[in-house]
Amino acid sequence: MTDLERNAARTLDAADPIALWRGRFHLPRTANAEPLVYLCGHSLGAQPVQAARYVEEVMRDWRELGVEGHFAAQRPWLSYHAALAAPLGRLVGALPHEVVAMNTLTVNLHLMLVSFYRPAGARTALLIEKHAFPSDRYAAESQVRWHGLDPVHDLIEIESRPGEDCLRTEDIIDRIQREGQRIATVMLPGVQYLTGQALDIPAITAAAQSQGCKVGWDLAHAIGNVPVSLHESGADFAVWCHYKYVNGGPGAVGGAFVHERHARSPDLPRLSGWWGNDPAERFRMAAQFTATAGADGWQLSNPPILAMAPLLTSLEYFDAVGLTQLRDKSVQLTGFLEALLRRHLNDRVQVVTPADPAQRGAALSLRLRLSRDQARTVFVGLQRRGVLTDWREPDVIRVAPVPFYNSFEDVWQFVAALDAELAGTGA
Ligand SMILES: *Cc1c(COP(=O)(O)O)cnc(C)c1O
Repeated sequence: MTDLERNAARTLDAADPIALWRGRFHLPRTANAEPLVYLCGHSLGAQPVQAARYVEEVMRDWRELGVEGHFAAQRPWLSYHAALAAPLGRLVGALPHEVVAMNTLTVNLHLMLVSFYRPAGARTALLIEKHAFPSDRYAAESQVRWHGLDPVHDLIEIESRPGEDCLRTEDIIDRIQREGQRIATVMLPGVQYLTGQALDIPAITAAAQSQGCKVGWDLAHAIGNVPVSLHESGADFAVWCHYKYVNGGPGAVGGAFVHERHARSPDLPRLSGWWGNDPAERFRMAAQFTATAGADGWQLSNPPILAMAPLLTSLEYFDAVGLTQLRDKSVQLTGFLEALLRRHLNDRVQVVTPADPAQRGAALSLRLRLSRDQARTVFVGLQRRGVLTDWREPDVIRVAPVPFYNSFEDVWQFVAALDAELAGTGA
């Protein structure tokens, strides 16, 4: 690691057209208030400075208006969630009425599977990936059992080829084509949480739908990270959370997408609650449920306004910068990270994430060529040096330079710290 490279990083920062956004986030610090190189936006995004103001606004309206805040608040609570729909639609390439912010990711996944995993006749299987995030796996397996089916037969798990970490699009499509007639629903990640691989949403959606399957996407690691065109892809549904790249805060309200072609199908089976009822009918308190058209018709409860306030802030940030600009920087930033790793640590660090920028987002997953215990020690050592990444069992360090608030110099500091730690192990 050379000073020349550090200067190159600083030059890139000086030329970065969105560098000033870093100052609009609170970046976490160490216990002694030292600056931290925060590379964990894939796990919990940093706090937008404006978020506190939006939360305080809700606290004030509640304090001063009580129940009247539903109508008279600065942003009336009755329609608060509706203000999120248009900016959310822009983030995932959907029409505003195709998306809704509600519940949390796993809850939304269950709600969507209730509507879009309807095993019948010979078509009973649910296809996921073998290394799905545990919550997705538990949700999928429990849905299969809920229908009285046996996961051994009806939960199909796609996996990568022996010796490979990432899935190949052609293998996914081939499996769907071979088994399509028994697959009710395909549910896959937009960006895989462990490897950082971005899947080809349009191609896989088209292949599955040509077999008559329903298709849904988990965008937990994709939203706010890579461009997605949900509407155009034709996907039936999608779900995601907002606390990773969308910076909505810990446990932030999640999101869901229902394609327009299902939006006006009140007969589509669903689990209902009063907030999904047509707003014109909702307060008549009648026995009859009339689903609101669009994704709003899947809402259950009146939403947690306080939890939505940071999300509203963050979506305004995204609208102000635009995902195109963020993505441009992201490709450059992650490319810089990869180049430094390859130049200095190629023999000691394996990059698990695909090298093709079109097949990845901001994060790189790294496997150290060490024993698991030594690798863990290196990970902890990074933290001691003020560089925060995360560890995912069995042996992966995930590093996400987030274009909104990370700099090229952050990336340089990470690689320098890793280099120093690895030197310490004698590797
Ligand atoms: C982060 C993440 C989750 C978390 O689920 P919650 O219901 O929000 O706790 C689920 N699935 C995937 C793929 C994730 O990356």
